[in-house]
Amino acid sequence: DFSVCLLVQDAYGMFSELHLQAAELSVDHIDVYSKRWEGKTCCLTGMKILQRTTKGRAPGLFSLIDSLWPPLVPIKVHGQSQDQQVQNNLPVPSFCYVLAVHAEEIEDDEAEETPDLYLPPAVYTLRDIHQIVGPSQRCSFCGTVIYIRPEISANPAPQQEMWIFVTDSTLQEGSSAAPRTLSVCISPSCLLDNRVHQALCNKSPCALLFKDAIRENGRVICVERTVLSVQKPLLSSASGVKQVSDPVQLDDLDCAAQANSLCAVQGIITGVNEKTAYSWPVCNECGSNKLQRSDEKREAYLCSQCCQYTSNPDIRMQLEVFLRCDSMPGCTVRIKLQQETISLLLRLSPSVDGCYEVSNVLGMKVGPLNCYVQSASSQLGRYVELKEISLWKAN
Ligand SMILES: [Zn+2]
Repeated sequence: DFSVCLLVQDAYGMFSELHLQAAELSVDHIDVYSKRWEGKTCCLTGMKILQRTTKGRAPGLFSLIDSLWPPLVPIKVHGQSQDQQVQNNLPVPSFCYVLAVHAEEIEDDEAEETPDLYLPPAVYTLRDIHQIVGPSQRCSFCGTVIYIRPEISANPAPQQEMWIFVTDSTLQEGSSAAPRTLSVCISPSCLLDNRVHQALCNKSPCALLFKDAIRENGRVICVERTVLSVQKPLLSSASGVKQVSDPVQLDDLDCAAQANSLCAVQGIITGVNEKTAYSWPVCNECGSNKLQRSDEKREAYLCSQCCQYTSNPDIRMQLEVFLRCDSMPGCTVRIKLQQETISLLLRLSPSVDGCYEVSNVLGMKVGPLNCYVQSASSQLGRYVELKEISLWKAN
């Protein structure tokens, strides 16, 4: 369930939100509606008032209105002629109407006597998002997606909260104090069209334009009235932004780490979480874990995926370790490792007769590893929970 809305402003500066009514509305046609009407002066007829609303009742709508105030050109004031107008310090309208209008009743205004109030989105660099844009402010920006949480499948499922991690050349190449990435929370109320959804399924870096997202302490959230679109080519219209080059750099883990952010970590393994450590065999032909002990052949497994017998299955392992990090003295860092890192550690650790003991990894050095911060607490001894990840790479 969704609605397609247009924000309109009249010559007096009053805003209204139009809920578009048409026989077939599609989320996938947002760009079509946008090209058709955005920035155009139109004549509207046959509107139905759904609601008169205020900032207190519709903070999301008014954060958008605030971002468009003051108007670019002088607005008309009731009871005043054009030259009497005092345009300074005009208050932001305190209310607005929510209207329903049929798409066929929006007509281009050929006369165009109304002033052009359209304010195109100011596209910020990601460094500006970190350093200039204030809290609760609507903002637009381009970024290259390098990772998302959770993973999504090609079949659109009911949308859940999702985190998109983006970067751009101003964060990667700058030596500023700004973080190297920006965490963007996509709330379920922000609709993703099919093109964006497919781009995120590919797990390959893609450039997205985030229009009218909201800045919130250290991160950005996308809610209703935020529009995401795929940008091609991989360039932003913001000046000074170049294509991000591989490999993407993450910030080193430090005491300021927040949940739902990315970081790089290195340290010495001081403990193994025995409770969560386990291993299982997978087929060395196809990688499937659907192996069954064979009845006919001793010491062999039958893979129910590729129907091959194997006596040397690959071993997969889940392993969580505790790290001592120089960058985080006195802090407990727990990290869930990826298979490749586990295999490397076990290969390098001392083994007896080819048997690996997880306790042999104690004292070994790991990193730098790219990680997703699952949780971070600063109460009663700092504790950070990480998950090793692979950043998206260009194919
Ligand atoms: Zn197999």
